[in-house]
Amino acid sequence: MYDVAIIGGGPAGSTTAALLARAGRRVIVFEREKFPRFHIGESLLPFSMKAFTRLGLHEKLLRAGFIKKYGGEIMGACSDTGTKFYFKDGYRSQTDHSYQVTRGDFDKVLLDHARESGAEVHEQTPVGSVEFSKDGVELAVRSNGSSHSIRARYLVDASGRTSVLGRQFKIKKTYDHLQKLSIFAHYDGVWRAEGIDGTLTVLVRAVDRWFWLIPLTAGRTSVGVVLDSETFRKSKLSAEDFLEQALAEQPTIAKRMTNARLVSRVYVEADFSYRSARLHGDRWLLTGDAAGFIDPIFSSGVFLAIFSGEKCADALNAVLDHPRKAKRLFAKYERSVNRAMDIYLRFVDAWYTKEFIEIFLAPRNVLGLAAAVNAVLGGNVGNSFPIRWRMWVFYFLVWLQRHHPIAPRLTLVPNKQEETPASPQAAGVVS
Ligand SMILES: Cc1cc2nc3c(=O)[nH]c(=O)nc-3n(C[C@H](O)[C@H](O)[C@H](O)COP(=O)(O)OP(=O)(O)OC[C@H]3O[C@@H](n4cnc5c(N)ncnc54)[C@H](O)[C@@H]3O)c2cc1C
Repeated sequence: MYDVAIIGGGPAGSTTAALLARAGRRVIVFEREKFPRFHIGESLLPFSMKAFTRLGLHEKLLRAGFIKKYGGEIMGACSDTGTKFYFKDGYRSQTDHSYQVTRGDFDKVLLDHARESGAEVHEQTPVGSVEFSKDGVELAVRSNGSSHSIRARYLVDASGRTSVLGRQFKIKKTYDHLQKLSIFAHYDGVWRAEGIDGTLTVLVRAVDRWFWLIPLTAGRTSVGVVLDSETFRKSKLSAEDFLEQALAEQPTIAKRMTNARLVSRVYVEADFSYRSARLHGDRWLLTGDAAGFIDPIFSSGVFLAIFSGEKCADALNAVLDHPRKAKRLFAKYERSVNRAMDIYLRFVDAWYTKEFIEIFLAPRNVLGLAAAVNAVLGGNVGNSFPIRWRMWVFYFLVWLQRHHPIAPRLTLVPNKQEETPASPQAAGVVS
């Protein structure tokens, strides 16, 4: 009988496993893949750094050679310049950087760390069925072609978008207004700025889609586009052709990609915004993407996976000693994770209005609004009143922009007058 069984060895599962194992709990993790495996979600937020300290991970992350990310840049498709923000300028910023990571390597560091912390980790071992009883849970797992079952007092579902329990209990609800799709790939040779500006995540907002450029290593960049699933379906193009065409249509991106070479397959992820109606039961908790996922625009996924993994481990650790507190502590867990997801949901809803980008691209540092928005972009989902009221004012300005413009209106349509030049130098994009 294990104390806790965990389905999934991504950031949520590894964080929960490492913390519980370090607290002396008997933990078992089942991961269906062999790590390292490809995963999307490569740009991290600085508010995960505290969790990395608690987990004792910094040295391993530095040894793995992940590049430090100092902030981001958001651009409109109709302009060559955007608004840059640096994490050091966030409201009460505690760190000036996070990391840009190749997820295969990052997730392996975390899962190995959980194992070294004392968790029993089984890779290439998918969990099939799950059955609950009054005093625990029984999992049917498959490894090396044979099936067996294990028992644990509690179950954590950290199976990501697969949402093993969410599907079993039919509690996974999609957000109909966020039925987006993403097409992405890795490229070598994408132009980037010198110095810390070359570490920023670049987001380009066009009329009906947005693009990301995330520097992964010295030479490699992750590039992707997000749009309504319906728009892609109607195009009748293959993912490869759609991505190539969409990137070529954006001069700011095309200039940076003049010498770029595709070095991975082209991936597609669809229908990615949803939430589970419940995040806990008597014997189970959902964490990370298994609990919910809100659009990739603000790179909040891994942050929320680690944040919820940490809270999940803390709740279970207390409940293992005091089972009678389970109802209260699990409910508290659910509230805190839902609250964090709500903050990003509101931010994402605003992002998909044109007024958001118009306000964002005309920043005026009044009332410390920029620092508050920057803090939320960095993962500050605490209950800080100084941040909350500034965010209300920010949303009010976005609303006001629709009715009484206070910032220049943008077309978000690329300027057509210039030909795509032969090199980034010719385009004047060298720093
Ligand atoms: C297009 C796109 C772009 C994104 N960009 C970013 C970004 O820039 N930054 C960011 O922070 N986030 C980003 N995300 C989100 C990020 O990928 C996820 O939020 C994050 O990976 C969640 O971590 P997790 O541990 O919950 O789940 P995962 O990382 O998905 O891990 C779940 C694990 O469970 C395993 N599993 C599933 N089913 C079973 C089973 N039955 N048995 C055993 N194991 C199982 C899987 O193999 C997997 O390894 C993006 C997401 C999308 C769709």
